[in-house]
Amino acid sequence: MEELGFNDYQVLASKTRKEFDEIKDMQADVGLGLAGEAGEVADIIKKHLAGAKLIDFEHLKEELGDVLWYIAEACDCFGFSMQEVAQKNIEKLKKRHPNGFGGYGIR
Ligand SMILES: [Mg+2]
Repeated sequence: MEELGFNDYQVLASKTRKEFDEIKDMQADVGLGLAGEAGEVADIIKKHLAGAKLIDFEHLKEELGDVLWYIAEACDCFGFSMQEVAQKNIEKLKKRHPNGFGGYGIR
């Protein structure tokens, strides 16, 4: 499968968007939708850590994809490209952690 870049993803995601009469309605939808989908990711992890369920990785992947879709929509809503947001984030991380991420992550 050919790799899908941020900009291509953003264009494809926008084709599945519903139309809004007012920009504030779209802003509300992307803000609440992003929080809701992030909550679904958190719930999968919470249930796993509580011992109630093993992580269903396919479900987790699907919910992370839903978060990504709302990120694409938020970028469109505010006039950003996902590429520029990703680039800005990496620049911030490089400034904050010039020697890498020692102390974080799984070793
Ligand atoms: Mg979802």
